[in-house]
Parts: sequence; C-alpha cells; structure tokens
Amino acid sequence: MKLALPIQGAHEQATFRENQLLKQKVIVGSVLSVMIIMLAFPQLTPFVPDFDLQIRNWLLLALAAPVELWVGWDFLKGAWHNLRHRVATMDTLVAFGTGAAFLYGGVVTLFPRLFLDHNLLLETYFDVAAVVTTLILLGRYFENRAKSQTSSAIKKLLDLAPKIAHRVKTDDSQQTIAQNTSEVGLRSPRFGEAGLRYTSDVHGVAIEDIPLNQVVKGDLLLVKPGEKISVDGLVVEGYSAVNESMITGESVPIDKVKGDQLIGGTLNATGSLTMKATGVGKDTVLAHIIQLVAAAQASKAPIQRLADQISAVFVPIVLIVTVVTFVSWFIFGPQSQAGSLALINAVAVLLIACPCALGLATPTAMMVGIGLGAQNSILIKDAESLERARNVKSIIFDKTGTLTKGELTVTDAMVLTGPMSAKQLLGLAASAERKSEHPVAKAIVKSAQSQHIPLTWPTSFESLPGQGVKAYVSRKTIVIGNERLMKLFNIQLDSLEKQLEQIAQSGQTPLVVAVGQEPIGIIAIADELKKDADQIVDSLKKLHIISWLVTGDKKEVATAIAKKIGIEHVLAEVLPHDKAAQVQRLKLTGHTVAMVGDGVNDAPALAAADVGIAMGKGSDVAIESGSVTIMNNDLKSVVNAIRLSRATIRKVKQNLFWAFIYNIVLIPVAAGALYPFGGPLLNPILAGAAMALSSVSVVGNSLLLKRFRVK
Ligand code: ADP
Ligand code: MG
Repeated sequence: MKLALPIQGAHEQATFRENQLLKQKVIVGSVLSVMIIMLAFPQLTPFVPDFDLQIRNWLLLALAAPVELWVGWDFLKGAWHNLRHRVATMDTLVAFGTGAAFLYGGVVTLFPRLFLDHNLLLETYFDVAAVVTTLILLGRYFENRAKSQTSSAIKKLLDLAPKIAHRVKTDDSQQTIAQNTSEVGLRSPRFGEAGLRYTSDVHGVAIEDIPLNQVVKGDLLLVKPGEKISVDGLVVEGYSAVNESMITGESVPIDKVKGDQLIGGTLNATGSLTMKATGVGKDTVLAHIIQLVAAAQASKAPIQRLADQISAVFVPIVLIVTVVTFVSWFIFGPQSQAGSLALINAVAVLLIACPCALGLATPTAMMVGIGLGAQNSILIKDAESLERARNVKSIIFDKTGTLTKGELTVTDAMVLTGPMSAKQLLGLAASAERKSEHPVAKAIVKSAQSQHIPLTWPTSFESLPGQGVKAYVSRKTIVIGNERLMKLFNIQLDSLEKQLEQIAQSGQTPLVVAVGQEPIGIIAIADELKKDADQIVDSLKKLHIISWLVTGDKKEVATAIAKKIGIEHVLAEVLPHDKAAQVQRLKLTGHTVAMVGDGVNDAPALAAADVGIAMGKGSDVAIESGSVTIMNNDLKSVVNAIRLSRATIRKVKQNLFWAFIYNIVLIPVAAGALYPFGGPLLNPILAGAAMALSSVSVVGNSLLLKRFRVK
C-alpha cells in the first residue's frame, strides 16, 4: 500500500501488517481444523483410515497444537496479560475455553493410562479447541476488515492529494547575483516578497517533477490547468479559477490571483498558476482534516465506556457460572460421562458468553458515523461530540456569517449636518475603519474603494469589540459604531434614535459616525440571509430542537432577521465575551446546548456549549474551535449533523442490545439448564460459530448505517 501523506505512517501500516498476519492465521487454522474434524470423525469421511484411538489422539494433538499455540496466540497472550492485571476480558473467556479443551485432550493423549484405569473413554476435544479458535479469529479478521472499510472516508480524503508536484528550479547562485545587481535580464518574472527569481518558461526555466513528500516550505510550484494543487500555498503568478468543493463544499470555482491562498487537494480549472508552498506535509489543511477524522474515529465515546464497565462485571460473573457449571455437572451429571460433560458444558459457557460483539458495538458504529460525516462536509472532532449532539435541545445561532452570508454591504451613507457630501462621509469612515478586521469595517472600506474615494491612514486607532472603533483621522477624532459606543463616549443622539430604529427594523445595521462629540452621519449596512436559513428553524423544530439567535447587533435588526426565518428567541446587543455567558445560562436550564458560530469571534461560546458547531471554510481556526466543523458553510449540515448523531447512537444501542440478549439467553442453555427438562445442550463448536456470527452481524449492522442520507 502506497502512502500518500506522511501523517498516514506507522499506525496504518501496522494495522495492514496485522491484518495480513490475521489472514494467514485464519487460513492455516481453517485447513488444520478441517483435517482435525476429518480425523476426529472418521465416520464422516470414508477415505480417512480408522486409526487406533491412541495414535489418532497423537495425530490430533500434532494438528491442534499449532492452532492453539500459534493461531490462537493472541488470546493466550491477552488472557495472561489480563490475569496478571487481575482483569477479565473476552480474551480470558476464549483462552480459558479453548485452553481447557486443548489441555484436556493433551492429558488424555499423554497419559492414557490415567483414563483407561478408571474405565473412562479416551475422548478428546481438539476439534473444539481448533475450530473455535479459528472461528473467533475469523470474526476478528472480519472486524478488522470492517474497520478499514469504514475508514474509507479517510482513504477518499487521502486520494485528494496528488502524488507529485512540479517544482520550479530556482538557481541559488543566479538568485544572489540578481539580487545584488538588481538586474533582471532574462530572469523574469520576478517574485515579490521572497525575492526569488527564475528564468521564465520561454527562456528555458527548469521544472522538475518531485514526489509530494519532497516539497518543502518556500518551494515554487507550477500548477497546470486541470491539475490538483499539491500543497497549501500562495499564488505568486498567474490567474485561474480553483474548485475547492472537496475541502469547503463551495461548488462555485473561486478566482485566484497573485497573493490568494491555495488549498492542497483542490482542483485547478483552466489557468496555469505558480505558487509558493506555505504549508506542506503535516501542516496542510487536508492533513489536518485527515488527522482530525482519524483521531475522531479512534476516540472512545462515553457510551463505549459503559460497555467496558459492563464487561468488567459481566466477565467475572461468567467465570463463576463456568465453575458452577463444571462442578454441578461433575457431581450431578450422568455417571459415565460426568467428567466430559462437565468439561464440555463449562467450555460452552465460556465461549457463548464471550462478549466479543459487545466490544464491537460502539466503535464500529462510531467509525461509520464519523466517516459519513466527513464525507458530507461534517467534521466531528471525536466520538463524544457525536454522541452528545443527539441530545441537543437548544441551538444558538450567531447571526453574522452564520445565518447570514457575512458579505456585508453599505446600503446608505447619510449626512446629518454640515457641508459634507455622502462620499466624504464614507471616505472619513473608511479611513477610520481601515485598521479594523471586522466585517462591518471591511464593508465600509470596500464601498469607499469601489467609489474611488481617496483614503488616508488613521494616526491613532482603537477598536472596541462589539461596539465599534475610535480613530484619529485628518486631525479629527472619529467615532464609528453602535449606540452603545456613542453612550460610552457621551455622544448625544437624541433625535437620531428614531431614524436608527427605522433602519434597524428593516433588518439593516445602522452605524453612527461622529466627529468629536457630534454625530455627523449614519451608515447603513445590510447582509443577505443564507439560502436555506428560512428552512433550518423548521427542520430543527421537527427534531424538537429550539432555535435561538445571538448577536452583538441592534435588537431591532436581530428581531427583524429572526422574524424572517422563524426564530422566536432572540439575544441581541450581546458583547462578544458575553456570548459564552449566554450559552452557560441556557445550559443551566438543563438543556443540552449547541452553539453555531463562524468560528472566529464566537470561539469562547463554541467552547462553552455542549456541542460547538463551527461554520468553517476549512480554515485552521474553524477546525480547531468547535467540536463539529461544518466545512461547506451550509446550514442544512447542522441539521444533518444532529440527524447523523441520532442515527449513530440508535445503531450503537441496537448493537448493544443484540450483543447482550444473545449472551444472556444462551448462557443458561450452554450451562445445561434445559437438560434436566429434556432440553438441548449447546455444543462448544456451535457456541463458537454462533459467536463469530454475532460479531459479524454487529459489524454488518453498523455498516448498514452507511445507508444514512443527508437531506
Ligand atoms: P456579531 O455578533 O453580529 O458578529 P459583533 O459583536 O462583532 O457582531 O459586533 C456587534 C456590533 O458592534 C455590530 O453590529 C456593529 O454595530 C458594532 N461594531 C463592531 N465592530 C465595529 C466596527 N469595526 N465598526 C463599526 N461598528 C462596529
Ligand atoms: Mg459572527
């Protein structure tokens, strides 16, 4: 198996090798088991000679030994390990069961006198030891196969990265000369910041194809039309559209020009790009996603700890039942067969009770669930998050960037007093906002730039999160923000308030621009609702989940938006650091609370929630914050995440039920409880076979989860 990414190293390879060995053991075990059965039951197969009983036992011992000691080695090792730590697991049951059958046969074979002297039959149960060991191992092989099948989600992600990259050779010596003389000559084009130069294609630039793992940070790479982008980086030359849907879920190709970011694994459309590698190996967005999914799939859900706890009690009880079975049959069993029936029934109890399927119930379903999520742009951090999402009763949505597109635009700039024009107002505001990263600020700057309004840089600048900014521009103190900010600076609004309210009631955000203590203008900002925003509340209601809206925006704006999409509970004018407190408050009512935010300024609230759902576009910040990351920025995925959680936990419960009911019902049968009433005994071989089947059926049941469809 060729491994594409460095993070996929040791662990996966070890699993692969382990499975190869398991396969060999199953094959050897099967062949030997068939031979043992043919030999043990000569009446079944006419062509096997009828050996003398003692010779036959020796032959059986020779065939069964490798099965017990090599094929079943892991069970013995596991049981020994457990014994030393005074715990009991399924390995204990399997090892005790097959070990007892094997040892008994060994004693009969080695010391036949012991039995003949007491008029006992020279009966051995090597067939039981061999067949059961092989069957259980077969179950384990299927289990491992199923596990690697369920992580097909990871394989698909791995396949996104191309195997090679085209590196543009930069000649170090030429570079220094060029830098020293600043003579470009044939060496063009020139690469900005890095100061790298190379001779262009036409002038015979050298391109070499290198394996992905040899790409290092700072390499210049050529991305040809129609090719996948190999690592994360920045465009340094060229123009193209890139399909990023595999990472972000955004189906419209994104235009990329110099300075734009590229994500490894995405597909370049028609143009040719030269990029500088900024993230390689473990540091790419894709590698982060893969790591996250792999870690999540390997993580334990609380419900699984429950299964472990039950096993810890269950197994010792089974061991006691086994001893009781053995002793009772030995004392009360039919005279001639008491010994062998005692042994065979005790072994049957051990084997039927083995809670193999129990151990499989949770992890297999979780792996399928998390894998399915990843394939549908829902990244789930761990099994616990997936489990918790099922219980969500309240979901708090952030407004900007979560329910709305977050593409804010200036719809109006109104001058209140003075000789200023609307353009001048916008110019002043934009100059003041230039240093702010807030979407509101960016919208104002963008609007000014699109109207070619000349901007200056503020000489001093202060940002007040959740309120606005204060800056010193063109020898004036400018304050821009909401009413809370105006109050903070004692700026009187008086007659303005009505006007602000009107704008807000239309669902737009009004901002006041003040010079010194005097309000001089109002800027209105609008944002569009995301396309499925009006359906989400309804879909959640059907799942009996209450929706909330939380925002730092003005109450009227929030209410107007909430009304449009049917949210009844609104928390408005909440300062960024109070969002987390609001989440906590709701949690106190006993509800499991999910918070949906765009992952940047909502991070504390995401962390405070029982389930933090980050609306990300594959950015690192977004992935780190919530326990669930919605990669495609699609609100429907929030509903799907909860549906997926519920479906997965339902599967786990089904699995647990089947694993348990099976053990509990059959243990008394195996112990021979029905025998006195004329009922059947459970042959250990049948017990082993049924158990292997039960493991397979639990895994199968988990795989059925793959039928889950996103809506
Ligand atoms: P949200 O909760 O919608 O993401 P924030 O808490 O970041 O919003 O901001 C709340 C409000 O504070 C905004 O609606 C806006 O009125 C005001 N505000 C925040 N930053 C700025 C800024 N840089 N310029 C002007 N107003 C701002
Ligand atoms: Mg926001």
